[in-house]
Amino acid sequence: MVPTYILYAFIASIASVIGGLLPIYSRLKHIRTNYLVGFAAGVLISTAVFEMLPQALMVSSIDIVNPLALGFFSLYLLEKSVMIHACKETECDVHTSGWVGMIGLGLESVLDGIAIAVGYITEPALGLIIAFAVAVHELPVGFSTTVILKRSEFNRKSTLIMLFVTSFLTVAGALIAGLFPQEYFGDILAFTTGTFIYIGASDLLPHAHERVDWLVVVSVILGAAIVPFIEAVLGI
Ligand SMILES: [Zn+2]
Repeated sequence: MVPTYILYAFIASIASVIGGLLPIYSRLKHIRTNYLVGFAAGVLISTAVFEMLPQALMVSSIDIVNPLALGFFSLYLLEKSVMIHACKETECDVHTSGWVGMIGLGLESVLDGIAIAVGYITEPALGLIIAFAVAVHELPVGFSTTVILKRSEFNRKSTLIMLFVTSFLTVAGALIAGLFPQEYFGDILAFTTGTFIYIGASDLLPHAHERVDWLVVVSVILGAAIVPFIEAVLGI
């Protein structure tokens, strides 16, 4: 039987594909993603701080500070070396070639899958919340993926293939994580916590706030508040 966390990773990948299909259909390419991006930022940061961090503290044998900082700065270096970030159709002139961007997005998807699997194996409800956070932020990330590819003059067919590959690397990440020795799960969880904080606070949040709009603030707070709400509903 397929482990539940693989199923969660699969659903998160579908979210990325759906987000990526939006800019392909021209009618939808100019939709304002700021609210969704703000909501996703709130969900990611809240999941990292309220859910992943306490669990990492519980299962880690040594310390969680180093792997957390390592996760944060690794994502920073990854993002700056491949010049990727969440963006909209009409912006983002800083992107490098599509291929380089895809490597970054692909690696990020692998990390998402690892977070879902490690979270689930240590505490099933945590895996569900992480999967929710991944699915929510992958909608705008999938959107950016297609925008980057179109900018790099990939045709529609190759854009779709690349979108599917980078999206489904989340499932590959979950599969890989299932093979890791469980004694490292606390460190891995702390590492992915660092990556979630980076993506939420340094990538999505500034992007959501490109324009002064109080509804974006409301979206961020809603995203942050929904995580403890889900936790209460799940009874953990
Ligand atoms: Zn992601």
